[in-house]
Amino acid sequence: MSINKETHDYFDVAVVGGGPAGMMAAGRVAELGKKVVLIEKNKVLGKKLLITGKGRCNLTNATFDMKEFIDKLGKKGKFLFSSLSEFGPSEIIDFFEKKGVKTKIERGKRVFPVSDRSKDVLDTLVDYLKQNNASIILGEKIVDFKVKNKKIEYVELKNRKIYADSFIFSTGGKSYPATGSTGDGYNFAQKMGHKLVNTFPALVPLKTRESWTKGLQGLSLKNARATVFVGGKKQDSRFGEMLFTHFGVSGPIILDLSKKVVELLKKGEVTIQIDLKPALDYPTLDKRLQKDFETNVNKDFINYLPDLLPRKMIDLAVQMSGIDPHKKLGTISREERKKLLHFLKELTVTVSEPMGYEIAVITSGGVDLKEVDPRTMRSKIISNLFFAGEILDLDGPTGGFNLQICWSTGYAAGEAAGYK
Ligand SMILES: Cc1cc2nc3c(=O)[nH]c(=O)nc-3n(C[C@H](O)[C@H](O)[C@H](O)COP(=O)(O)OP(=O)(O)OC[C@H]3O[C@@H](n4cnc5c(N)ncnc54)[C@H](O)[C@@H]3O)c2cc1C
Repeated sequence: MSINKETHDYFDVAVVGGGPAGMMAAGRVAELGKKVVLIEKNKVLGKKLLITGKGRCNLTNATFDMKEFIDKLGKKGKFLFSSLSEFGPSEIIDFFEKKGVKTKIERGKRVFPVSDRSKDVLDTLVDYLKQNNASIILGEKIVDFKVKNKKIEYVELKNRKIYADSFIFSTGGKSYPATGSTGDGYNFAQKMGHKLVNTFPALVPLKTRESWTKGLQGLSLKNARATVFVGGKKQDSRFGEMLFTHFGVSGPIILDLSKKVVELLKKGEVTIQIDLKPALDYPTLDKRLQKDFETNVNKDFINYLPDLLPRKMIDLAVQMSGIDPHKKLGTISREERKKLLHFLKELTVTVSEPMGYEIAVITSGGVDLKEVDPRTMRSKIISNLFFAGEILDLDGPTGGFNLQICWSTGYAAGEAAGYK
């Protein structure tokens, strides 16, 4: 049966999910002059995009060398090679700059809008859609679909069907479900015959057995080293910023280690050793302490600690080193100094479990990349279906890599569906 394009809601391309990947995909299709509709279940587009980078939107990472960028994504990164070469960090920076969003590069090559407002990024994408005459349906979700002869015929909203020549699914993952990302697309893809790679919360804060982290709640360390151990064996390590919370540890380096930690928890007890003085090795730090103690012999230990540590850590340092807070520095024994050194270089937490999807930055796993063409994002199972963004089994560390995955795959899917 052929579809009467006059009487049906008919489009060249229908894009399901109005996050960064879906907006980029739909915008590109519209720019190519095709009739496109973007369907988003929230009453607004890009709800998650607005909260990225603590509301500042770390929109990409200024790693312009393709290989270096791809290496950051792990084994599956090579899937991105083609779409990243076509529309990578320099192209997305250019995209926003040309539309009036000036960008800046911060520590770790993180790219942000100069305004520090994610809303400027979102508004630019919404303008991109509107200026190219994309139709937008808000506040209605896709509840079902019809596949015939390995092609999607239509997707179904509560009270109507949307027919299209091609469909792009960009429904995101399961993390931060309050933003609309509830894993619907995973179920749809599976129902269509796609294999799903096991999903789990990634870039996620970690709960610890030790309750002393509660006393440090809100304390952020800018230059710490966190090293992960299982059974006394070093597994991985990161240097940078971390945060203590009421339940355990968080912040960029912990989030980046979390994926590995979640996997390692299956093997045994996972501990994280925090080096509070990573710039000084053991002997150098020991020499510094000895020198400080010799030049301040009559100073109380408790009055010396603020020179060494953030104020919030002082009670813990006293407790863990076991040194009497009013002991004079000149009388601190070698043994006591060693305990202080141990605290400064090897403060250890034991991971009990990762926090859940509620506060995970991304979902790891998703639509199996083996069943998707990396050049076009086209499904190898359903001939008129394309995927973009977090729905794919592809993720990266913090630093703008995950949004770049959305821009590259969204652009590739839009380009392929739009030229079809
Ligand atoms: C707190 C936080 C901070 C982050 N900060 C950064 C950062 O600074 N830099 C970075 O690179 N990454 C960051 N990320 C990750 C980044 O936000 C995601 O990788 C990105 O949003 C994924 O985009 P997406 O378009 O694939 O999916 P989403 O953004 O999840 O969008 C999917 C959309 O599909 C809609 N949808 C779902 N099901 C249906 C349905 N059945 N019908 C219709 N619509 C549907 C949803 O409502 C949603 O709007 C952050 C994530 C979080 C949670």
